[in-house]
Amino acid sequence: MSPDALRRQLEYYRDLGIKDLYRKDAIPIVNIELPGLAPTGDSLPRILKDIGDCTRCRLHTGRNKLVFGVGNPQAKLVFVGEGPGADEDAQGIPFVGRAGQLLTQMIENTAAKEGIPLKRADVYICNVVKCRPPENRTPEPDEMETCGQFLFRQLSVIQPKAICALGSTAAKALLGGKDGVTRLRGKWHKWHDIPLIVTFHPSYLLRPYNQNAKREAWEDLKKALHFVYD
Ligand code: SF4
Repeated sequence: MSPDALRRQLEYYRDLGIKDLYRKDAIPIVNIELPGLAPTGDSLPRILKDIGDCTRCRLHTGRNKLVFGVGNPQAKLVFVGEGPGADEDAQGIPFVGRAGQLLTQMIENTAAKEGIPLKRADVYICNVVKCRPPENRTPEPDEMETCGQFLFRQLSVIQPKAICALGSTAAKALLGGKDGVTRLRGKWHKWHDIPLIVTFHPSYLLRPYNQNAKREAWEDLKKALHFVYD
C-alpha cells in the first residue's frame, strides 16, 4: 500500500474515532501514527529532484517542460491551479499565458486597491499536475492522485498562512469531495489545518459572459489578501 493510501485509510479510522489498531501478528495494542505528508527535512529543491524526469503518469508523454512552481518559497499565500497550458508547457513556468496575466493583474491590482504592498513574486504559484494534459483537458483522477503527492509536499514545505485553490480541479484535489467552485467559494475551508479559499480559475474569468464570476473572484481574493496580510 502506498504511503498516501495508508494515510487515507488511517485518516478514515481516525474519523471513526478509532485510534488504536491491533496488528495480526502482535499481542500488544499498537498505536499507529499517521505517516507524514512529506519526508523529514523536505525542501522544494528536493521535491523537484525527486520528480526528476518523471514518467509516473501518462501526462509525461506530451510534455515539453515540467512546470513545478514559481514564486517565494516562504510565501504566506499559495495559489494552486489545475495544470499547465501551452504557454506554461513551453516555458516551464505556471500561469504565464493569458490566464496567468489575468491572475497577476488580479493579485497586484487587488492588493494595490486594498493598500497591501504585494507583487506576484511575493506569493507562490503552482498546479495540481506538473505536465500539460493533452488539448488542455481536465486531469484524470489517477493523474491528480499521482502528481498530487508533489503538490502536497510543496504545500507542506512552504506552510503558507493560506491557500487559494483556483477552480474546481484544484479544490477537488485539496479538499476531496465533488463540489464545484460555485458551492465552495466565498467561505474558508482547510487543507491539513491551513485555511483554504476556493475561487474561479482565471481562464474561466476570461470568458466574456462571466462578469458576475469576475466580481465574485475579486471578492474572494480580497478576503484572502486581508486574512493573510492584515
Ligand atoms: S503530471 Fe506529475 S506525475 Fe504525471 S508525469 Fe508529470 S510530473 Fe509525473
